[in-house]
Amino acid sequence: MALHEKDNIRDKLFDDIYACCDLSSKLPKYKFPKKEHNPRNVYQVVHDELMLDGNSRQNLATFCSTWMEPEVHNLMEECIDKNMIDKDEYPQSAEIESRCVHMLADLWNSPDAANTMGCSTTGSSEAAMLGGMAMKWRWREKMSALGKSTDKPNLVTGPVQICWHKFARYWDIELREVPLEKGRLLLTAEEVIAHCDENTIAVIPTLGVTFTCQYEPVEEISNALDQLQKDTGLDIPIHVDAASGGFLAPFVDPDLKWDFRLPRVKSINASGHKYGLSPLGVGWVIWRNSEDLHKDLIFEVNYLGGNMATFALNFSRPAGQIISQYYNFLRLGKEGYRKIHQSCYDTAQYLADMIAKIGPFKIIYDGHGGIPALCWTLKDGVNPGFTLYDFADRLRNRGWQVPAYSMPPNREDLVIQRILIRHGVSRDLCDLLLEDINRCIEYFKTNPVTKPLSEDEAGGYRH
Ligand SMILES: *Cc1c(COP(=O)(O)O)cnc(C)c1O
Repeated sequence: MALHEKDNIRDKLFDDIYACCDLSSKLPKYKFPKKEHNPRNVYQVVHDELMLDGNSRQNLATFCSTWMEPEVHNLMEECIDKNMIDKDEYPQSAEIESRCVHMLADLWNSPDAANTMGCSTTGSSEAAMLGGMAMKWRWREKMSALGKSTDKPNLVTGPVQICWHKFARYWDIELREVPLEKGRLLLTAEEVIAHCDENTIAVIPTLGVTFTCQYEPVEEISNALDQLQKDTGLDIPIHVDAASGGFLAPFVDPDLKWDFRLPRVKSINASGHKYGLSPLGVGWVIWRNSEDLHKDLIFEVNYLGGNMATFALNFSRPAGQIISQYYNFLRLGKEGYRKIHQSCYDTAQYLADMIAKIGPFKIIYDGHGGIPALCWTLKDGVNPGFTLYDFADRLRNRGWQVPAYSMPPNREDLVIQRILIRHGVSRDLCDLLLEDINRCIEYFKTNPVTKPLSEDEAGGYRH
């Protein structure tokens, strides 16, 4: 069509992306598209749809990184084509992964950090599977050597993250998750001993329990297991689920003994993408000694060129997260991690004080003795006009995600609400949140959604 006829073709020109033919009709959503589309248009559609997702920085439910330095964005872009599994094609990425393993072994006080076994994973969940398998294999070998049955392995834990429920179910292991009680929301040494027997493949204390964010007493549990061994001969290893705590305690609480300083701790997992400050998609598992990781679990592959050992659930995996982890280690060092995390603790403790002052809330965890976080419940005998579920819902109106949830078995009656303070959740942001919290409380005073308590329920409490 000749240029002088352009008035006739005006409709066919892309004056505006939203007026073009792609975007003036619906794009297919659940059927595979027949035709191709213009990249610019499709990008805009996908970009726009993502606006409906929550804003991650206001998501106070997540433990995962939601703010990264610009250099990390650059490294992620530079690594977009690197496949972690292909150690022959990307030997430097493999070397960097291996350096991270040694740095973590050193950070966690491995007696022999230079020769430690370990690997990166997609997160603590995969790391837990690998750590758990190593324990099952070791236990089975020990029992077989004694001519004993290997039919009924069990795992003793406190209120664990869902990954251990998965591990137990997928690998056919009885999960002995010690039930909670009124006044006890963590695993104790006493309960551990009461639940262990010769079929216990390991005890899993958590350094930063998902529900309340507190640390379980690893050293006490380890001492109690030492005593159990003296008394009965049972030698039960510890694997620490340090998903969050593994990247907090070494920097902020270096005297806390929870790691390889305790000889009974045979393996540790942690999430690089939580307080390790890397982008999503990296976790770590480290074994104390090479004999703690059974040789049967390691595969050798040679079809990528070169012979390489692999122990993982996944095969192909992006390298960027691991490279960014290495960047963070070099960039921050112990000093930088301590500064960032200490300021998170300060903010969590400040917020806990402020929320305690508001009135209807009872603080369960105030940011001391666990990870930088806080959680609370409603005071007994108080009816502020809302449940914590209503409160969470109302806060969502301003974009804040502050989840309310019930506790694990035996304390399902206890509903709590939790806030995680991470890199990028500043004091200033918390003050804005506090304003919104106060606004919500005022709103429910005039628009209550729960029935007033009877005299009995209120127990004489006057709000
Ligand atoms: C987050 C978390 C996990 C799971 O880790 P991912 O990295 O999300 O797979 C396991 N255990 C604990 C204690 C956690 O906090």
